[in-house]
Amino acid sequence: MKKIICILLVALLLLPLNACASPKPVSREYYFMDTLITVTLYADEEEAEPIFKECRRILSELDSLWSRTKEDSDTARFNASAAGLSDLDARTVKLLETALDVSQKTHGAFDVTVLPLVNMWQGCETAQALPSKDALAEVLSLVDYNRLSVDSETAVSKVAGTEIDFGGIGKGAAIDALIRYLESTDVSGGLVSFGSNVAVFGKKPDGSDFRIGLRDPHDRTDYAGALTLKEGEILSVSGDYERYYTVCGEQYHHILDPETGYPAETGLSTVAVVCSDGALADALSTALFVMGEEEAIALYDAQIYRFEAIFIRSDGSICVTAGLQKRFEKQ
Ligand code: AMP
Ligand code: MG
Repeated sequence: MKKIICILLVALLLLPLNACASPKPVSREYYFMDTLITVTLYADEEEAEPIFKECRRILSELDSLWSRTKEDSDTARFNASAAGLSDLDARTVKLLETALDVSQKTHGAFDVTVLPLVNMWQGCETAQALPSKDALAEVLSLVDYNRLSVDSETAVSKVAGTEIDFGGIGKGAAIDALIRYLESTDVSGGLVSFGSNVAVFGKKPDGSDFRIGLRDPHDRTDYAGALTLKEGEILSVSGDYERYYTVCGEQYHHILDPETGYPAETGLSTVAVVCSDGALADALSTALFVMGEEEAIALYDAQIYRFEAIFIRSDGSICVTAGLQKRFEKQ
């Protein structure tokens, strides 16, 4: 099977520092959840070292809980179970609750039970053949968040055959965990970039804002614009050029519409969501991508969740919600 190509969606633009400012940023890279993660701290090397070590421990622990390929992970054990489990980690159940909440409020545009569909597309790539109508219908009958129910802080039951995938929400939850830890340290500020999720904490030594570049979906070497991210905010980006399956020379991107079973085609190339909860930002960026701009704006207007968003349409035009207009500079 071909390796799915992973491309960093969001990148740090610049961290302009006052030449006299101290401390300077120090960074460490990690690779977990199939993703390159960079933690940047305004701290001296000695202070940063044990903090980087703890970041690794947190990431490794969450990866071991939520990976769908590690046999002992909560995800793999749950998927292999017949009717659910009662010994899940409380963090897994909390994440599942957030996932189910977003699934309900987006009427299944986000669906944490999407794994059979993800596996089907991986199989299509291996076989170099698109699914038959019957095979697709069979797989779609397994994708339905109503087949799960949370019974307690550690117990979730399921209809047999249901399989979960935290691919659309787990990175956001992990970035939350990192930021919570970093805020508890003496480091004055920094930034975490987790694939297509970015969060900042504290302040830069010169007091200036953190500015994050949003990659141009039509020219990956360029930026569509730059966003000022405030303390406590997390930016999550979903794009149709991030990961894809190649079948018979065609590319099928990785954000799947649980209604059709095919990659969501709603005239959007990128959806960026800003909110204070990482798991929610991550789930919402995936959901809004599937819903399309009109339904996404309706969800925004209904104020069911507090979030702001940037939509880059397939034709390159950009729509920014009210709360970000002064903070997003188009390139
Ligand atoms: P993201 O890059 O955060 O938008 O998440 C995309 C990943 O989430 C995919 O690689 C799948 O693992 C999973 N996924 C794909 N489609 C959906 C969906 N409709 N709902 C929930 N998760 C999805
Ligand atoms: Mg997501």
